[in-house]
Amino acid sequence: MVQVAAERIDDLFALAEREATGLQPGLADRYVRLARRIGMRYNVRLLPEYSERFCRGCSTFWVEGRNVRTRLRQGRRVRRCLRCGRERRVPFRRARAASARRAARGRRLARQQEVALVGGARSVPEAVSGPVEREGG
Ligand SMILES: [Zn+2]
Repeated sequence: MVQVAAERIDDLFALAEREATGLQPGLADRYVRLARRIGMRYNVRLLPEYSERFCRGCSTFWVEGRNVRTRLRQGRRVRRCLRCGRERRVPFRRARAASARRAARGRRLARQQEVALVGGARSVPEAVSGPVEREGG
């Protein structure tokens, strides 16, 4: 059921993305609201790339320059919802440090795995060796 919920959330955000610039931007907000409710109902976290696309106060699907304003202020990326005025502040310096830490940890794990696989296959599972996302900037 969790899997179904996650897929439904994916679908809803894809729809929201499409409607946001289409004829009925109001529908995008509706899709966001539904996706959030499904996430809460089935205890499924929204992916970071989704949760930074909407307002946590009024569930507006954010379109840069239309209903959200982004400013860099004191090491933080501050996004203000132009509908309800709520601000979302994300430190970008720390985010980068965190992702650097994640990358270092991934490399360490990969090295440990290689050591453990002496004589065996040298391949490292995708989950460990996969690319590390970089955020902020
Ligand atoms: Zn808002």
